[in-house]
Amino acid sequence: LASIENRPEPTTVYVDGVAIGEGKFTVIAGPCSVENHHQMITTTKGVKSAGAKLLRGGAYKPRTNPYTFQGLGEEGLKLLKESKELTGLPIVTEVMNPKDLDLVLEYADVLQIGARSIQNFALLKLVGQTTKPVLLKRGMSTTIEELLMSAEYVMSEGNANVILCERGIRTFETATRNTLDISAVPVLKKLTHLPVIIDPSHAAGKRDYVPALSKAAIAVGADGLIIEVHYKPEIAISDASQQLTIPEFENLMKDLKKIAQVL
Ligand code: PEP
Ligand code: MN
Repeated sequence: LASIENRPEPTTVYVDGVAIGEGKFTVIAGPCSVENHHQMITTTKGVKSAGAKLLRGGAYKPRTNPYTFQGLGEEGLKLLKESKELTGLPIVTEVMNPKDLDLVLEYADVLQIGARSIQNFALLKLVGQTTKPVLLKRGMSTTIEELLMSAEYVMSEGNANVILCERGIRTFETATRNTLDISAVPVLKKLTHLPVIIDPSHAAGKRDYVPALSKAAIAVGADGLIIEVHYKPEIAISDASQQLTIPEFENLMKDLKKIAQVL
């Protein structure tokens, strides 16, 4: 179903009227984790005025270490809703546990499946039974073929609103957190009609590299970006080293608008 042979024309996924695909470049931005009211309001206003079209933020966090912050859960979803009411930005948020799906569905405009859940086939089938757009993040050790098979799990249950995301893969390189596989974009464009976006934040792991990787996303033909932004990254509870400040994000958006038709 994801194959270009099945559907030669590119698919556009619409989220609350915002297009992902369609030859435009759509930017999703927001913090790694939803932390508190002040953080969300400040950050959401900042990313909205800089030109982000959707808001990201995790209420359920897939942390490597079980003793670290796991996300605010429903309280986090409520803060996302409040941020949406304030700015109009639709919400992209992760669902990890099938038992949380009904609750997340009440708040999310896009269901994010994280890199670590990309082969949780039970979860993929469940989100496939909904009508919400699904953002599928490639796992750090999944091949492009495996990513496409995960898309099939969602689509074969009836949900065709799938967006693919390259977020860096695990290699021998340690200078960055992951290695952004920019080749994945032209390869996916050859194989599938689904929109493809890039997450430069989790790929780089360091904010200094995020602008260059974001521009690379445009050069290779991606349909957009999902970028971590925090009003004060130095106090962020998760992924402090990779989140952009609001002024950094504003500068990046100005640069992107010079080289692409940013939605
Ligand atoms: C995220 O986007 O919040 C996240 C945890 O990313 P990934 O699943 O790509 O590691
Ligand atoms: Mn993160």
